[in-house]
Amino acid sequence: MVQYFADIYQAVSSAIQGMGITIKHIYRKPVTLQFPDERQVMPDRFRGFVHNDMTKCDSCNICAKLCPVDCIYIETEGKGKERMMTRYAIDYNKCIWCSLCTENCHTGSITMSHDYDHSVYDRRSLVYEFMDPNEQKIPCHRATRTEMDWWVEPKAEKKPKPKPAADTKPATETPTEAAPAPEAAPPVDEKKPEPPAADPEPTDGEGEDK
Ligand code: SF4
Ligand code: SF4
Repeated sequence: MVQYFADIYQAVSSAIQGMGITIKHIYRKPVTLQFPDERQVMPDRFRGFVHNDMTKCDSCNICAKLCPVDCIYIETEGKGKERMMTRYAIDYNKCIWCSLCTENCHTGSITMSHDYDHSVYDRRSLVYEFMDPNEQKIPCHRATRTEMDWWVEPKAEKKPKPKPAADTKPATETPTEAAPAPEAAPPVDEKKPEPPAADPEPTDGEGEDK
């Protein structure tokens, strides 16, 4: 009999507890996004897919030389003023998002974007061609993704705040530790040294010339 009422009490109390949690969540904002219609806004320093703005790139090769996994392919034709870039590609199968290329690009053309979802069925599609968007078989290229409204723009860089001028007031004197007293000189013996004994006076007959 006791067990019967204990079971009823347990069932009712757990139902009330569960309903309490449900009611609490009714008034909370949803944390899920209706992906891909809604897209996550990434933090400022998020490293998404590397993007190269080909209008600024001068094919200097610095990024390709610095890339630790050799995933940037640059091909050029001609020499001197006639030098032309024919291919700029990044293999995202190998990229480790280290940002060495973006930090050392002297024209600022290569950047870490906030673009992050590039799931593909064929790994070859992750070799991202920047010269010709028509070569992309999947919506990886920026132009295609912008057209499909899938491109996630990086946030504008924030300018660092100027540092406040250094305080010129002299620092308040802090009590310093008392200098240690010089060590006491060793006690000097006050007794003066005794003068050397006088030579004994010559006795009669001694020391005289004969
Ligand atoms: S370092 Fe910059 S300018 Fe030079 S090839 Fe790479 S992206 Fe182009
Ligand atoms: S982020 Fe690093 S690994 Fe990726 S392309 Fe740039 S240098 Fe290479």
